[in-house]
Amino acid sequence: QTGQPFASLRTIDLRGRTHTPAQLKAVMPRAETTTDVASDAVAAIIADVRSRGFAALSELAEKFDGVRQDHPRVPRRALIEALENLDPAVRSGLEESIRRARMFAAAQRPADVEVDIADGAKVTHRWVPVNRVGLYVPGGLAVYPSSVVMNVVPAQAAGVASLALTSPPQKEFGGLPHPTILAAAELLGIEEVYAMGGAQAIAALAYGIEESEAGPALEPVDVVTGPGNVFVATAKRLVKGVVGIDAEAGPTEIAVLADAAAEPKFVAADLISQAEHDPNAASVLVTDSPELAEAVRTELDVQVPATKHTERVRTALAGAQSAVVLVDSLADGIAVCNAYGAEHLEIHTADANAVAGRVTNAGAIFVGSYSPVSLGDYCSGSNHVLPTAGTSAFSSGLNVTTFMRAIQVIDYGRNALEEVSGHVVALSRAEDLPAHGDAVSIRFAE
Ligand code: NAD
Repeated sequence: QTGQPFASLRTIDLRGRTHTPAQLKAVMPRAETTTDVASDAVAAIIADVRSRGFAALSELAEKFDGVRQDHPRVPRRALIEALENLDPAVRSGLEESIRRARMFAAAQRPADVEVDIADGAKVTHRWVPVNRVGLYVPGGLAVYPSSVVMNVVPAQAAGVASLALTSPPQKEFGGLPHPTILAAAELLGIEEVYAMGGAQAIAALAYGIEESEAGPALEPVDVVTGPGNVFVATAKRLVKGVVGIDAEAGPTEIAVLADAAAEPKFVAADLISQAEHDPNAASVLVTDSPELAEAVRTELDVQVPATKHTERVRTALAGAQSAVVLVDSLADGIAVCNAYGAEHLEIHTADANAVAGRVTNAGAIFVGSYSPVSLGDYCSGSNHVLPTAGTSAFSSGLNVTTFMRAIQVIDYGRNALEEVSGHVVALSRAEDLPAHGDAVSIRFAE
């Protein structure tokens, strides 16, 4: 449409028709996920790291990160020095981020559940932390010390005893990860840090690396978490099953559900802040007010040229994955948001809390005009590693239970078993597994 302000953001007009959830899902824009494209290359990297250990890691560091490396383990003194040299404002920002994240994570620890099924028959759902985790912090195009906080805090709150953290080696920092990442690790008390990036880092964490002349062993982990690019995401998919992984992280997304009373300046700023991440980032406005949509476009005309990463933002907003979605009513808007299942959903409407209560599908919900996503990226207490690409339909953002599992404990006494033994025998016969029934009956044979 010519003459429209901020013309590069397309409109999807859903007014005047009803749609099923499946139709809404199909019509909503989404960036292609491209993990299949990288699959062969990543499988080769994983196989190489498994068979040749540190030798492979060092070659891959040279090839992809341009650094020569004898051993990827970061010396402790580099962590200490990085914290000593950290800008005090960044340090206090990280400390506050950690404090808030710890408050929320500590409260998430699930309680064990113990149920008396019958007299002398008890079953318990007992939560235990995994033994060892590997945390990936991206560091190719930008540095994300906030991702150190978001990975480490819930793992520590879960009670994980052994944590290894890895981030790509940086040429300009002598082959170590970015100093702010090292400083954040030190602030959180993480001593086992590696300068490894990409698929090779995920392979090393999942399979471990044997001790060699180059240095000590890297013990394999039980769970690998953390965001990263397509090589990291593909590697996580390929090692899944050998280790647990968190939700796959594709290009980042925001949906803003707004009504006529929303503040266009705030909405535009939040769409831009998401677009700033990545040219493939999705910024979607869902509204029942064409006037608000128009006002947000006008604001984008003002704010996009003034922001630092104008070109990246422009590309993301012009991409097929970003749009203004016009709906007939707020109820229809909620249905659209539920079908889309955004990684981040902001609600800028009257009674935003009640609207949030009707949302059943999102990675995280940001309620009202004063809970922007960038608060959640750094300092809200919530976690910023969240499910993208609609995977919020079946998975959660990083939290304490990501690093735990529950063991079911069965504790029956003699009488309790005898009481139920007839049923076990009958069911075992029905499955043609009579030895199962015998294993119970033998205990009560004269
Ligand atoms: P990265 O750490 O994910 O990847 C860098 C590594 O990719 C390099 O070390 C290299 O080994 C590997 N690599 C590069 N080119 C390769 C090739 N051709 N073949 C094989 N391996 C190759 O860093 P990045 O690239 O900057 O990506 C970071 C991603 O993480 C971004 O998409 C960003 O949006 C995302 N992110 C998400 C969150 C979140 O919470 N969801 C937070 C921070 C960052």
